[in-house]
Amino acid sequence: MADGEASNWQGTLARLLSQENWPEDLNEIVEKLSNNIPLSLDDGKFLFQYRDLDVIGHLAGIVKHARYGNKVFFNVNVHINQTNICTLACKFCAFRRGRRAEDAYQLEISDYIEDLYNYSNHVDEVHSVGGLHPEWGIEHYTELFRRTREEFPHIHIKALTAVEIKHIAKLSGLSILETLSRLKKSGLASLPGGGAEILDDEVRGIICRGKESSEEYLEIHRTAHYLDIPTNCTMLYGTIETIEHRVMHMIKLRELQDETAGFQCFVPYPFLPDDSRLPEAQLATGTEVLRVIAISRLMLNNIPHIKAYRMNLGDEVSELALQFGADDIDGTVQEESIMHLAGSTAPLDHDKARLAKIVSNSGSIPVQRNTTYTSFVEFNPPIVPKRRSLRMAR
Ligand code: SF4
Repeated sequence: MADGEASNWQGTLARLLSQENWPEDLNEIVEKLSNNIPLSLDDGKFLFQYRDLDVIGHLAGIVKHARYGNKVFFNVNVHINQTNICTLACKFCAFRRGRRAEDAYQLEISDYIEDLYNYSNHVDEVHSVGGLHPEWGIEHYTELFRRTREEFPHIHIKALTAVEIKHIAKLSGLSILETLSRLKKSGLASLPGGGAEILDDEVRGIICRGKESSEEYLEIHRTAHYLDIPTNCTMLYGTIETIEHRVMHMIKLRELQDETAGFQCFVPYPFLPDDSRLPEAQLATGTEVLRVIAISRLMLNNIPHIKAYRMNLGDEVSELALQFGADDIDGTVQEESIMHLAGSTAPLDHDKARLAKIVSNSGSIPVQRNTTYTSFVEFNPPIVPKRRSLRMAR
């Protein structure tokens, strides 16, 4: 059930949309959504400028509802960032350190395993991304994943962004195909999708010079999909991009998805400004965050899941995002450095019950999923005995 419980969701969507009175200037877009016709660049730009955010949110909410009803997905995972040492210096990044920095760190394989051991009883996914370490090539990562899989066979390893794959390949003198094949063989099971930023090389030249190009990002994901490695995709917005850049970004991902169907989830997150170096950034406001979530749902008709990434959005905005078309709220997380060094104050230590509460507060039913959206368990909070019955039992 890669698509949640979506059987014939398009028929349901057409019916739900036909039951509402939409403003006349949205008729063309509603018509396209009803017939599963992808929205165009102009449609996307129109939605970004549309005066009534509530209507856009309602529209996206209906599309989400047609696919998944009242369900919202979460998983139980831990983030471990293996190193902050990085050979690049993306302008928006508050996480990376030079090798000699006082607070530079690298987790040796035994440290990583020990760290994961603390969570291994109650998580089913480890999410690991980090800097481009100057010496960690294919041997390091295949050994890391081999040991992780051996120690924790029940834990899905979701790790490495496209630029990390490119870096490992270059350091090891391998093609992307060979690098991903070897990583998969050692235990890597999916890619988290980070580092897409904005898929426009002019923007990338300013905010993350030296990173993989737009085409390289897409090609690395294409290769992963070819090898049956599912991936997520992301968008970092609120830096220097225009609305057109955002919509084109979504269209490029949608086109690759048409070709491979390998993306599971789209994760849009705004730039968090604290402590990093991009004074020219046009920071996204709270309503813009909700608009981006809603438009992602409307533009990306072939990517099943839209995630409210609470590590970046915070719990409160994530809860609202679930009413604006998002169907996933990521996981329990436990540890995380990248967003927190950039200014995130989202709590890290959520257990299942607290995550489920965010989902219930938004009016939805929390459903625990695995990483690949192939197993689902509706979350029912434990029943706490009432005080009165305890007294009676004495
Ligand atoms: S975003 Fe990634 S690649 Fe860029 S500087 Fe930070 S850690 Fe390095």
